[in-house]
Amino acid sequence: MIMQTTLTDSVEEAAAILNSGGVVAFPTETVYGLGAGICHPEALLRLFRAKGRPADNPLIVHLSSVGQVAEVASSLSLQAEQLIARFFPGPLTLVLKKNPSVPYTVTAGLESVGVRCPANPVAREFLRLACCPVAAPSANRSGLPSATSWEAVMEDLDGKIDCLLRGKPSAIGLESTIVDCSGKRPLLLRAGAITLEQLRAVVPEITTVAVTVQEKRPKCPGLKYPHYAPKATIRLCTAAGNIDGNLSPAAYIGLLEPPQSMKLLKVCRSLEEYGQELFSFFRLCDASGIEVIYCELPSDDGLGRAIRDRLMRAAGLC
Ligand code: AMP
Ligand code: MG
Repeated sequence: MIMQTTLTDSVEEAAAILNSGGVVAFPTETVYGLGAGICHPEALLRLFRAKGRPADNPLIVHLSSVGQVAEVASSLSLQAEQLIARFFPGPLTLVLKKNPSVPYTVTAGLESVGVRCPANPVAREFLRLACCPVAAPSANRSGLPSATSWEAVMEDLDGKIDCLLRGKPSAIGLESTIVDCSGKRPLLLRAGAITLEQLRAVVPEITTVAVTVQEKRPKCPGLKYPHYAPKATIRLCTAAGNIDGNLSPAAYIGLLEPPQSMKLLKVCRSLEEYGQELFSFFRLCDASGIEVIYCELPSDDGLGRAIRDRLMRAAGLC
C-alpha cells in the first residue's frame, strides 16, 4: 500500500504522528531509526512490513533517558548497571531481561529486550515527546545498507512510512554495539562505535561469540540474515593487494590510496571517517552503476572490528 510520507523538520509534528499510531523515521548518532511506539501493536506490524523485516528479528527499544530502563527491563545485573552508568546515553544497546510491558512482537518472542538510549539531541527530544518507548530498527529496507542520511531513508521508504523527521547525517554511521547482559556472562553480539576495549575497561569479563549465517538459533537473531549489501559485488582487500579497477566499473573505499585508478574513490583519514562514510558510499556506488567495490579491511581491534564486521557481512562472508 502506498501512503503519503510526511517529511518534516519538526520534532513535535513527528512525535504527534508517532503518538497517533504512526511509523516514523528519525535521526540518531548511529544510523537513522524507524520507530513505532511499543504501545501501538498495529504500528509495530506496519513497521515490520515497511522494512520487509522477518518477524523473528527483534527490535531495539529506544528510550529518552536512563531513568526509563526500568519501564522495559527487569532485574539488571551489576555489569549491566555499570555499562549503563558509563555508556548511556550513547551508541550501545544492552540486551536485558524483558519486563511484561514489552510486547513479544518487539522481542520476536524472546524473554529479553534490546535497550538503547541515543545521545543525539533530536532523537532524545523525539523520544521524550513519545507517549511510550519506541521500538526502532535501522530505517532501511531489510538487507540493504543502513540509512545514514534522510535522503537514504527516503530512497528506501518513501510511500511506505507515515513520517520522516529530517536531521543531519549520522555522526557515527554504524549501528550500535550490542552486549547481551541477560545471561550469566556478558557477550558482545555486535561490534560498534563503543569498542570491545572500552567495554572491557568497565566489565573485563565480556566475551565475544562467533555467529555465522548458517547458525539456526543465533544469540542475536538479526545476524543470521544477509546485511548491509549493496547491489555491487564487495571485494575485500588490502590497498597493496590485487585490485584491478579497470576491468569493470569499480570503486574503492579505505584508509590507504589504491594503486589503480577507480571510477569512485573514497580515501578516509581515520577509522571514524571510514565508519561514517561506508554505507553512504555503498549507496552512491549503486546509484552510479558501480559493479565492484573494493574495500580495505581494517585490523580487528578498536573501531576496526565494527567496520570489518559490516564489510564481511556485506561481502556475504559471515
Ligand atoms: P537493527 O535495529 O536493524 O540494527 O538490528 C537490531 C539488532 O539487534 C538485530 O540484529 C537483532 O537481532 C538484535 N536484537 C534486538 N533485540 C535483541 C534481543 N532481545 N536479543 C538478541 N538480539 C537482539
Ligand atoms: Mg538493520
